Amino acid sequence: MTIQPPPAADQKIRCDACPVACWIRPGMAGACDRYANRDGELIRVDPHVILERTLDQGGRVVPFTQRKSEWAGEIVPEDTLFVTAIGAGTTYPDYKPAPFIVSAEVDGVDMVTVVTEGIFSYCGVKVKVDTDRFLGPEQATVRAQGEAVGHVTTGEYGSQMLSLGGVHHLTGGSKKEGRVTCDTLLELSNGKPVELTIEGGSTIVVEAGKAPIINGVPEERMRVGCGSATIGIFAKQWFGKVDDVVVVDDHITGVLSEHASGKVLGVAPTGIKMRGRRSTPGRYFQVADPGTGWGGTSITDPLSILDPFDKTVAKPGMTLFMVSTTGEHAAFFRLDDNLKPVEAEMPEALRASTERIKENCEPALSTVLFIAGAGGSLRAGVTENPVRLTRSVKDTLTRVTCGGAPVYVWPGGGITFMVDVTRLPANAFGYVPTPALVAPIEFTLKLEDYAALGGHMDHVRPLSTLGDHESRLVPQIQGNVWPFGPEGPRWGRE
Ligand code: SF4
Repeated sequence: MTIQPPPAADQKIRCDACPVACWIRPGMAGACDRYANRDGELIRVDPHVILERTLDQGGRVVPFTQRKSEWAGEIVPEDTLFVTAIGAGTTYPDYKPAPFIVSAEVDGVDMVTVVTEGIFSYCGVKVKVDTDRFLGPEQATVRAQGEAVGHVTTGEYGSQMLSLGGVHHLTGGSKKEGRVTCDTLLELSNGKPVELTIEGGSTIVVEAGKAPIINGVPEERMRVGCGSATIGIFAKQWFGKVDDVVVVDDHITGVLSEHASGKVLGVAPTGIKMRGRRSTPGRYFQVADPGTGWGGTSITDPLSILDPFDKTVAKPGMTLFMVSTTGEHAAFFRLDDNLKPVEAEMPEALRASTERIKENCEPALSTVLFIAGAGGSLRAGVTENPVRLTRSVKDTLTRVTCGGAPVYVWPGGGITFMVDVTRLPANAFGYVPTPALVAPIEFTLKLEDYAALGGHMDHVRPLSTLGDHESRLVPQIQGNVWPFGPEGPRWGRE
């Protein structure tokens, strides 16, 4: 970063790394705490992270604020180090080349990695909350610290999706809304817990890779399946041990005696009558309101979803097992002389099947995917002809990574990517008070392809020259594809 003219060591200096343009006193940091004035020199506060390929790190995430080791440019096989954008600095105001454009030889092929910390006004997180419990109606506003930061989107199989952030919350509301949205995205992206309140629904705490906490209660299990699927999975195990089974589910409640799997096994009709809307035999929608009770419904009494049994079919003494999709709730009933279900002690076989349902439920987690568009001007730091970078990514000649983590690039226009935030070294995300998120992004491709797309060739420097600035070696996150690995872009192995 160059400042013109060079200031005296006791003067304020102006940071030009984002539109805020802080004037920073000696020994102080700017508004984002990412840049500081050290003896009249503008420095990036955090060390630059270089990933080290290791095959036996045991999946441990090493925060880059905890010194792992420094690297002073010693000669190492170049394909064992990967230069990330974490701590690298930005290209703002965009016409500048990316802060590091680093060449390396990999399997005899000259490669280049172009890194920058992108400032993303167009970004957000998609949060997947593994739960059957009712978090809030679709489209409901999600709030943090009282501010609207996103909304509830679709319910998926055993999970509720939230969409948080995005340019409208960052820039389109009040100043406070933008600031709180930015804070929320930063905390979630850096793996911190955030409390969210959903209008007309629950208060939840989400944290990437951890169990969600819903209305103060940690969620333990993700359901084994919908009510219908649960009937199908366990029908054979229940056959002969009970006359009928109801698997209570907010979406699709299953009834064994009517369900196709019950018919195949030869389960006799029991005269059971369900509330709600019958979809197909043995599959009922809307048996109750959504809630935090049995199977993601509002009910605490399972019998409340039954109408009286059909007197022409049901018989006194018939047995009924009712269970939720996680096995968290279960009850056993026997019909009395008036064909009314009366709760009775659960037979051991059904108790065991409840445990089997629980055993088949995966641990409930919150998953956070950061999504951003690396379009527009960020690409100018990579090439003088930005659309060629986009084409190169689409043509899989260029691999995109985020802090060295693999990303999913959306088809269609631009470079809109998503990354699982738990795949990055800790504290890899930052912010600027515009407000916007700062996220690392790297583009890796063959050097000859880089030249062909109009890259800043006069700024390419060999990996060994990075030893002259403060960098930190951090082990590769276990499970991540190594960015120079053969699974990626079509380089050198044709
Ligand atoms: S907010 Fe940070 S990046 Fe922006 S000008 Fe201030 S110190 Fe520089």
